[in-house]
Amino acid sequence: MRQFSHYNATSVNEAVTLLRESTGPAYVIAGGSDLMGCLKDNLWMEAPERVINLKTIPGLKEISVKNNDLHLGALVTLTEIERSEIIKKQWPGLAEAARKTGSPLLRNIGTIAGNICQENRCWYYRYPDKIGGRIDCVRKGGKLCLAVTGDHRFHSIFGAVKKCIAVNPSDTAPALVALNAVVKTTKRDIPIDEFFSAEMGSQSTILDNDEIVIEIVVPAPPTGAASAFRKIAYRKSIDFALVNCATALSLDNGHVVAARICLNGVYNNPFRCPASEELLTGKKLTQELAQEAGELAVAGAKPLLQNGFKVQIAKTIIADTLIDCLK
Ligand SMILES: Cc1cc2nc3c(=O)[nH]c(=O)nc-3n(C[C@H](O)[C@H](O)[C@H](O)COP(=O)(O)OP(=O)(O)OC[C@H]3O[C@@H](n4cnc5c(N)ncnc54)[C@H](O)[C@@H]3O)c2cc1C
Ligand code: SF4
Repeated sequence: MRQFSHYNATSVNEAVTLLRESTGPAYVIAGGSDLMGCLKDNLWMEAPERVINLKTIPGLKEISVKNNDLHLGALVTLTEIERSEIIKKQWPGLAEAARKTGSPLLRNIGTIAGNICQENRCWYYRYPDKIGGRIDCVRKGGKLCLAVTGDHRFHSIFGAVKKCIAVNPSDTAPALVALNAVVKTTKRDIPIDEFFSAEMGSQSTILDNDEIVIEIVVPAPPTGAASAFRKIAYRKSIDFALVNCATALSLDNGHVVAARICLNGVYNNPFRCPASEELLTGKKLTQELAQEAGELAVAGAKPLLQNGFKVQIAKTIIADTLIDCLK
């Protein structure tokens, strides 16, 4: 790991100033469970000049409900979300997504903001610099995507963004998309549908370099609300999703009034399924309809040689997660 200066910020303003005044790359750090791995493996072309600790800023760690909306401070941990009685009751899809992330130790240190801002896990991209040298793929400014011709079992089944087929690995991202959250930053309020971007080089979000997530707001559950989350991974614990899925429905006597469905692990960004949402709206939710919604969601899939199995998982997980909303 290359040397950098570490700052304990005491306020959000101070953290932003430290970011702005850095003459080289600067990163904020929360739990550090993703960032430290990136730094140790020298993932980026330029080493950071500054790493700014957010955990020393008071007031970013609260879970509260205001006007029936859920407010999550950026530093709220995944364990706190998983264990919160109000979240389990009113936004169960989010509580379950947090519960399925990593391991207990990771959930104890991993924060909600860090979870949605984490880097992709493509194994070529993450290849440690100290073993054989850095692999400069397209996402690191090189010319080739090694995954296309190499091992792409875990990669996108819906095509590439700027020739990169890495997937967004977050477990809580699809839950927040399904629940139509808003990300509040030091600069603006960002609807979650607009938050993720694989267009920005190595970043996974649209955040500017001097922009910090302060809070995530999840709207009040509508009448007849139900939400669910499922994750399929090779290993039962401490594994990233092959495919995960969150659904949030508003139900009236078993009929779907409104639906939001989001897959992850299948594309560069969390993947909404608008055609399936439209299909469900106004109809009675049955097993057959749920399966039809799953089929429709993957109708445009373009799997690669080794990851066709993820298409089957994606359509099944959508159907299962929809039926979970009836329980
Ligand atoms: C072994 C292992 C297993 C894992 N398993 C999973 C898994 O199953 N599912 C999953 O979703 N993730 C998993 N992760 C990834 C990750 O560690 C967690 O998702 C965790 O929630 C990240 O949060 P953090 O607070 O530690 O982030 P950090 O490492 O502190 O930060 C991650 C990124 O977010 C940025 N960031 C952090 N806070 C803010 C903020 N407030 N504003 C702007 N940017 C910010 C940082 O600059 C950095 O780029 C795993 C990681 C490891 C090491
Ligand atoms: S999928 Fe993206 S991150 Fe992975 S090797 Fe290809 S360009 Fe690099």
